[in-house]
Amino acid sequence: MNKHFLSNLTGSFAMPAMENPTVAMVEAAYQHHQLDWRYINCEVSPEHLKDAVLGARAMGWAGFNCSIPHKVAVIEHLDGLGQSAEIIGAVNTIVRRARGEYIGENTDGRGFVTALTEVTDPRGSQVVLFGAGGAARAVTVEMAFAGASHITVVNRSRERGEELTRLIGEKTPATATFAIWDGDFPLPADTDIVINATSIGLYPNIDQQLNIHWETLTADMVVADGIHNPPMTPLLRTAQQKGCKFVNGQQMLVHQGAIGIHYWTGITVDTGVMHAALREIFNPE
Ligand code: NDP
Repeated sequence: MNKHFLSNLTGSFAMPAMENPTVAMVEAAYQHHQLDWRYINCEVSPEHLKDAVLGARAMGWAGFNCSIPHKVAVIEHLDGLGQSAEIIGAVNTIVRRARGEYIGENTDGRGFVTALTEVTDPRGSQVVLFGAGGAARAVTVEMAFAGASHITVVNRSRERGEELTRLIGEKTPATATFAIWDGDFPLPADTDIVINATSIGLYPNIDQQLNIHWETLTADMVVADGIHNPPMTPLLRTAQQKGCKFVNGQQMLVHQGAIGIHYWTGITVDTGVMHAALREIFNPE
């Protein structure tokens, strides 16, 4: 008998975890590629995070994702960080490396850039990005390393926006300026890529729209939204009406998941299978 019954383990630690669709997307890829791997969606409270990481180590997990509220807190329980995770200051994917070390990576921004690259080349681009939270940090750092020339960070609170602008200027090859968001924001005419990295439009606030001076959004601009639920946000509907190319947050989610699977298994998975799993959940018609 050459069968064995010991699967490779991966998973996610988050709170809440109930509505996190990653398990469906990742296990669809595992099954499609006939990988004897499992992905366990775990609800882990902040006070149990340390024990959860020790548990993953004890059970020899190949790696795991961390989502809200653990992306920063998990760092002190790891053995090191990848280069961009270090700059971003947050981790969403943990990978067991040689000698059993658990290293934190951040695939949010790389997933975004991979999705965006399917419709436009970020090299040399002028970017306007709304938001300055965790998603914005990951996206701006990776956009800068993918060759974006200049990033205008537009944020409601000055402190967070200025901090992110400083981070881009000091730690990445791109230049950055900050603009306070206190009314309908006019997009500069030379803007190539417009990005929503805020939580505006996220379920259940699905009709919430960004304050943008819509006359300034033109068909030559590419629009990307980090919101994955729903996939078609008011921002993307407006972009579509204006004739802009656009990228939705589900594409970002799929690609960041695929990058994580590659870290864990070494296999480049078929992202179409992961997309199909998400489509079945969010837009089954
Ligand atoms: P944070 O809470 O860290 O940041 C939220 C940002 O949104 C802040 O800049 C905040 O501004 C801004 N914001 C929220 N509400 C408003 C509002 N009404 N008006 C103006 N600005 C507002 O969240 P994250 O960065 O972690 O996540 C942001 C979004 O990105 C989430 O919806 C998440 O689902 C999505 N995301 C998607 C991923 C994917 O793979 N598709 C991966 C990771 C995140 P202020 O600083 O002023 O409070």
